[in-house]
Amino acid sequence: MSLENQNILSAYEWLTKLYHHLLRFTKDGKEGYSYFKDRGVMDESIDEFQLGFAPNVKDFTAEFLVKKGFHQQLLIKAGLVTLKDDNSVTDRFRGRVIFPIRNHLGKTVAFGARSITDQGPKYLNSSETELFQKGKLLFNFDLAKRYIRKESEAVLFEGYMDVISAYQAGVKNVVATMGTALTESQAKLLKRYVDTVILCYDGDRAGLEATYKAANLLRSVGCIVKIAKLNEDMDPDSFIKENGAEAFQNEVIKASDTFISFYMRFMKQDYNLSVEGDRINYIATILNQLAMIDSPVEREYYVKELSNEFDFSMDTLTDEIQTIRQKKG
Ligand code: ATP
Ligand code: MN
Ligand code: MN
Ligand code: MN
Repeated sequence: MSLENQNILSAYEWLTKLYHHLLRFTKDGKEGYSYFKDRGVMDESIDEFQLGFAPNVKDFTAEFLVKKGFHQQLLIKAGLVTLKDDNSVTDRFRGRVIFPIRNHLGKTVAFGARSITDQGPKYLNSSETELFQKGKLLFNFDLAKRYIRKESEAVLFEGYMDVISAYQAGVKNVVATMGTALTESQAKLLKRYVDTVILCYDGDRAGLEATYKAANLLRSVGCIVKIAKLNEDMDPDSFIKENGAEAFQNEVIKASDTFISFYMRFMKQDYNLSVEGDRINYIATILNQLAMIDSPVEREYYVKELSNEFDFSMDTLTDEIQTIRQKKG
């Protein structure tokens, strides 16, 4: 590793400790501590994830690190401070709670920082560096890895708080994409460790669309995908807060849908099923997907569902699937 990268890691290590210490033990970090307490984060989790607080002071961080011997230029490169027109520096993170983003070896390579007021963007991240490329990293992979192996399953979320809440609730095989779309590199990383990935994104429309895309990507690299269902207004963290750990395990994780069930549900939004033509097109779309399933037992399971819902005989639907399969060879 280059000397510069070693120094960047070292700066992040100092800051992780400093921000965490401030939050946990000092008056300067009290706002941050109360924020996490209000959200139900326990001390144990605050320590495990090294959550912290960056004070609302213009150059608190810059000054601390320069005193430690780091060059200003390095701090700019590390995505921790920004240079103003008048050549002075300003901390990137001020008055925010800090989520250290660790690489797969457990070293902090970036921060996610959340506003604790209504002001400014909700989340700010360190800018990308050689050490931090958002699309190549999964949040919490270093801690989750051994549980992912143990369960032969990984649960994938959108956000930091989802991971922390689930982990705290005892579901520890959990990682997150940090809000952006799942990348091929992240999908392949998961595939190296497990066959099955449970997608558990936010229940809103955006989450649903992102789920569909992520599911296709994961399937394309050979994963079996299951999909957790959350109400429109929920994300995993809010579900756990409202319903508890046990409900999350039983009603969300264990009750997750197969990809096909999700697909049948997801595709409905594109059709007006009270219109005959739409209904027929919807069924044709689903049959096309079912035709790709190789197991006859599995196919029959979904044919039955479709037959019950739309009042077509199972024979008709099965014949249609056979025709599609023959055409595709
Ligand atoms: P919270 O529960 O704290 O309100 P969340 O974790 O549910 O937040 P979402 O708004 O659902 O957050 O976004 C999911 C994830 O996307 C966040 O955890 C964060 O990693 C990322 N994210 C969201 N907004 C931004 C942003 N403005 N800039 C960078 N990343 C963001
Ligand atoms: Mn969201
Ligand atoms: Mn969310
Ligand atoms: Mn949330």
